[in-house]
Amino acid sequence: MDFQAVLNEIAEEITPLLGTGGGQVASYIPALARVSPMQFGIALRTCKGEEAAAGDSGRPFSIQSMSKVFSLTLAMRGLGDTLWERMGREPSGSPFNSLVQLETERGIPRNPFINAGAIAIADRLLTLGDAKSDMLALLSSLCGDTVVIDAEVAQSEADTGFRNAALANFMKGFGTLDNSVDTVLDVYFNQCAISMSCVQLARAAGYLCRDGTHPYGGAQVISEAQARRINALMLTCGTYDAAGEFAFRIGLPCKSGVGGGIVAVVPDTLSLCVWSPVLDKTGNSQLGRMALELFVAKTGLSVF
Ligand code: GLN
Repeated sequence: MDFQAVLNEIAEEITPLLGTGGGQVASYIPALARVSPMQFGIALRTCKGEEAAAGDSGRPFSIQSMSKVFSLTLAMRGLGDTLWERMGREPSGSPFNSLVQLETERGIPRNPFINAGAIAIADRLLTLGDAKSDMLALLSSLCGDTVVIDAEVAQSEADTGFRNAALANFMKGFGTLDNSVDTVLDVYFNQCAISMSCVQLARAAGYLCRDGTHPYGGAQVISEAQARRINALMLTCGTYDAAGEFAFRIGLPCKSGVGGGIVAVVPDTLSLCVWSPVLDKTGNSQLGRMALELFVAKTGLSVF
């Protein structure tokens, strides 16, 4: 298949729609509110190492909740099944920053991809090593470039992350967190503030379409079974309360972030990343979702 031609077509169809959909860029994190909405990028890398990209695919953006895939990877690798003693695996059906389920479920997050889940994972990573640098090292190794944190975004999140602080305090009260709330939130805010481009993210997610093996060199990043499970969680929980709609329309494991990126996996075939900063009301990229729908329609690549 001529993937470059497919991505060119998608960019040609999406670009005229920039600025027309009525959504907005994330504004609750002030540093993200300044990002131009008029941007769209798409990139993929096949399991065989073929690459294609179009639009603003080389421009770094804030990966936000897409980081939750990689922090989960580190936690699964370091903790194995004990991770699930403090973590659920069911879709939440609620917004990513919702507090309500934590009360009824006694401080155990529904899944690792809502904010509560990722904050609890940040706590686990602190017990395993230097959580921030372990994350940067994993991402840099996976994409072959040096990956960095945008300090301004991290500070902006810390200044305004009142809901995340509430989630962390709530979990601390229930005994889900071992480390101090401030230490855990610092890790979480910094991982969300990592900057990467579509090209880098498509490469970095390569282990998820290659049964857990490294996109360069083929060493095992995580086991085949763990890679399968991360894909399952991405499909059922990766786009929050729109996960059903994403499965219905796209049918690929996906993970979104409020920076406007969505990473998607076609198991045994390729990993791809789309980015456009304007979000719908569920916090997923409006045009990113449309681009993924176009990709599946044009290529017939879906898990279903
Ligand atoms: N940093 C964001 C937050 O915690 C991440 C949310 C997201 O990307 N869905 O609110």
